[in-house]
Amino acid sequence: MRNATLHEAFVPQGCGGAVAPLRAVSLGAGALWAHAYDAVTTRGGGYVQGGGCMTVGVAGLVQSGGFGSFSKAFGLAAAGLLEAEVVTADGATRIANACTHPDLFWGLKGGGGGSLGVVTRLTLRVHELPETFGAVNFTVRAASPAAFRRLIELVVDFYARSVMNPHWGEQVRLRSDNVMRVAMVFQGLRRGEAADTWQPFLDALGRAPGDFSVDFAPLKIVSTSARTFWAPTSIKRALGFISRDDRAGAPEGNVFWPGDQGEAGQVLHGYQSAWLPANLLQDARRPALCEALFAATRHWGVALHFNKGLAGAPPEVLAAARGTAMNPAVLDAFALAICVAGEQPAYPEVEGHERDVEEARGESRRIAAAMGALRKVAPQPGSYVSESNYFEPGWQRSFWGSNYERLLAVENRYDPQGLFFVHHRVGSKRWSADGFTRLD
Ligand SMILES: Cc1cc2nc3c(=O)[nH]c(=O)nc-3n(C[C@H](O)[C@H](O)[C@H](O)COP(=O)(O)OP(=O)(O)OC[C@H]3O[C@@H](n4cnc5c(N)ncnc54)[C@H](O)[C@@H]3O)c2cc1C
Repeated sequence: MRNATLHEAFVPQGCGGAVAPLRAVSLGAGALWAHAYDAVTTRGGGYVQGGGCMTVGVAGLVQSGGFGSFSKAFGLAAAGLLEAEVVTADGATRIANACTHPDLFWGLKGGGGGSLGVVTRLTLRVHELPETFGAVNFTVRAASPAAFRRLIELVVDFYARSVMNPHWGEQVRLRSDNVMRVAMVFQGLRRGEAADTWQPFLDALGRAPGDFSVDFAPLKIVSTSARTFWAPTSIKRALGFISRDDRAGAPEGNVFWPGDQGEAGQVLHGYQSAWLPANLLQDARRPALCEALFAATRHWGVALHFNKGLAGAPPEVLAAARGTAMNPAVLDAFALAICVAGEQPAYPEVEGHERDVEEARGESRRIAAAMGALRKVAPQPGSYVSESNYFEPGWQRSFWGSNYERLLAVENRYDPQGLFFVHHRVGSKRWSADGFTRLD
């Protein structure tokens, strides 16, 4: 179920005459994004909105909403869904799209996955590929907490003025040791344009050499032809920019960003996320936002994932996102703030590889305190279901906001007996928290 088929003029079943044919790709539910990008971009010269990490599955990501590095330009992965083949709880294989089972189709677009049926195939819209993709990576060390506080003001101000737009995505990480790591990507810009964009920010840092030490060199800004971005070319492999699954017999196309190796088998100590509304960037509210970010970093590091909030995206991207089951809070958010702590693979029953439970508890408390500081300016922030707190209180509102009741109605219609259970997904209140016992 990893097949990928490109269509030049796809019309969803039953929609003939009602919708314009679109370029699209049909993917088996077992496909990973690495397979999708190989078919659509490297070989097909197009762009499909998927996830940032190539090891993530197409089916789970689309059903939870799904962000990629360039989502500020191309939107949610779920919004790109044109049609799904799905086996519902009654055993029927159904085609769901805007014309056939539109309610099920809506629920599959960001409703969480696993609770409405088993998806066997997804057809996603293929966009025109931008000419270039690129990245900006550098680190800034602040000399004191006060300088770090000022650094937060500078970067938030710069973000709001210069890079909250469809060209830019990914992250700025604010660490509790007064270090800021910029790991941003861009699309549709030449390298020189990207460098010009960041120069005023670098100049501002340069004016305070006693406060900031900047690990930047021109080579920290790179760009490449978009068509080769996901291709495991020999040069990229030799330079360590991309890795290949080296297990015997692994398919050629199993490639991944080297940084993701550390996530295989990792044990999370704590994980919380919150969408930060764009109105916090208004002049009057920005000081409070910066204060909250600084206060949060006194407890734990905060990563601002700008591509995981849609404020700054084009109107058609926002309109398409409105047609999904995701929490509408995503539309007005400029970033998803994530606090995470974990350790490398650990196994409770293997001597010498046990989890560090005490450390985990301490880090989990510090993450809660960091998020508490952010909630002072964003009291009911909403959170992205696929990158969130396993113990999220009020998860229905957090993950789906005003869409939850409608989602529950879809689940009642397609799974009236409550066959499917997923922790903190629609309808899961009918089951004990461990998923073993039906309660009604
Ligand atoms: C290393 C890593 C990087 C990530 N990067 C991103 C990112 O860049 N952007 C982003 O938005 N998210 C990201 N995520 C989160 C990711 O979106 C979710 O983990 C997502 O659920 C993964 O889908 P999957 O199919 O791989 O996972 P699975 O664990 O297989 O599934 C996740 C959920 O979806 C359901 N599901 C899966 N397949 C089906 C199916 N065929 N039919 C019905 N239900 C199904 C399952 O029931 C399960 O509840 C990342 C996660 C990891 C671990």
